[in-house]
Amino acid sequence: AVSQSTKMVKAIRVHEHGGPEVLKWEDVELGEPKEGEIRVKNKVIGVNFIDIYFRKGVYKTAMPFTPGMEAVGEVTAVGPGLTGRKVGDVVAYGGNPIGSYAEEQILPADKVVPVPPSVDPIIAASIMLKGMTAQFLLRRCFKVESGHTVLVHAAAGGVGSLLCQWANALGATVIGTVSSKEKAAQAKEDGCHHTIIYKEEDFVTRVNEITSGQGVEVVYDSVGKDTFEGSLACLKTRGYMVNFGQSSGIPDPVPLPALAAKSLFLTRPSLMQYTATRDELLESAGEVFANVASGVLRVRVNHKYPLSQAAEAHADLENRRTSGSVVLIP
Ligand code: NDP
Repeated sequence: AVSQSTKMVKAIRVHEHGGPEVLKWEDVELGEPKEGEIRVKNKVIGVNFIDIYFRKGVYKTAMPFTPGMEAVGEVTAVGPGLTGRKVGDVVAYGGNPIGSYAEEQILPADKVVPVPPSVDPIIAASIMLKGMTAQFLLRRCFKVESGHTVLVHAAAGGVGSLLCQWANALGATVIGTVSSKEKAAQAKEDGCHHTIIYKEEDFVTRVNEITSGQGVEVVYDSVGKDTFEGSLACLKTRGYMVNFGQSSGIPDPVPLPALAAKSLFLTRPSLMQYTATRDELLESAGEVFANVASGVLRVRVNHKYPLSQAAEAHADLENRRTSGSVVLIP
C-alpha cells in the first residue's frame, strides 16, 4: 500500500544489466524529502555515456535502480528545516546521485544549483554534467592556455563539442577526431581548426603532420581502448594524457616505462572529484553558465526523446548516431 506521504511517479528502471532493452518504464513510489533534501519535478533530463556504463554494469550501483545523472527541474517540496530553497525554484544538477530518469526525484539540496532565468532548461540540462566536465578538464585538470595545441577525441560528442568551443576560446589550436564528414563539419563550426576522420585516416600520422612533428600539449581522450595508445604517441615531451572515458572500451594497462620516453603525465580524472565540495560545484557551474551567457558555449541539443523512450536514446548514443547533447523530456 502507498502511504499518504508517498506518491507514484513514472521512471525508467533497471532490474538487470544489459542492452537498451533492460530500461523499463515503470511506476515507482516517491517519498517526502528528508532533512537536507528536496523533491524536484524534472523538466529536462540529460543523457550521458556514463548512463550506458551503469546500464551495462561496467560501473556498479545497487539493483534495481533508476539511471541518469543530469537534470533540470522545479522544486516541489523541501525537507524539514531546509533554508535557501523553496517550492518553485528551478534547479539543476549533474553528477551524483544517480536517478534522474524519473518524472520526479529526491535530491540532496547541496548537490543542486539554481538555474539563472536567462538559461533555457533544455540548455541547462545539457551543461551540468557535460559542461562542468569541460570546465574541469580545460581549466583545472590541465590548464589550457593560448598557444597550446590540444587533441580532442569524439569532438562532435556532448562533452567533445563543448571542449572544442571552450579550448578555441582559450586561444588553443584545436585538433578534433570524429567518425564522419557530418560530425567533422559540426566540429569545425565548434572551433576545431583541424578535423580528422579517425575511421578513415590514421590520427597519429595526421597529428604529426599538423603539428610538424611537435605533438600536442594535451590529449582529451574519452574513447579509451581504440585511441589510447595513439593518443600517447601524439603528445609532446612532458605532455598530458587525460583519459576521461572509455566509449570504445577500457584501455589496456599502461606499462609505466611507456611514459618515460617523453616524461609524460597520465591522469584518469572524474567529475565527482572535481566537484566534491559545494564551492567547487558552484564555481564550476558558475563558469559554465557564464560562458553560455557570453556565447563562448553554444550548446547543441541535437536529440530529444520522451523519457519513456530512453532505450532509443541509449541505442543511438552507443551506436555513434548522435552528436552534441541528448535529452529526455518527461
Ligand atoms: P558522446 O556524445 O561523446 O558519445 C560518445 C562518442 O564517442 C560517440 O558519438 C563517438 O563519436 C565516440 N566513439 C568512439 N568510439 C566509440 C565506440 N566504440 N562506441 C561508441 N562511441 C564511440 O558522449 P558524452 O558526451 O556523454 O560522453 C563522452 C565521454 O566522456 C564518455 O566516454 C563519458 O563516459 C566521458 N565522461 C567522463 C566524465 C568524467 O568525469 N570522467 C564526465 C562526463 C563524460 P564518433 O562517432 O565521432 O567517433
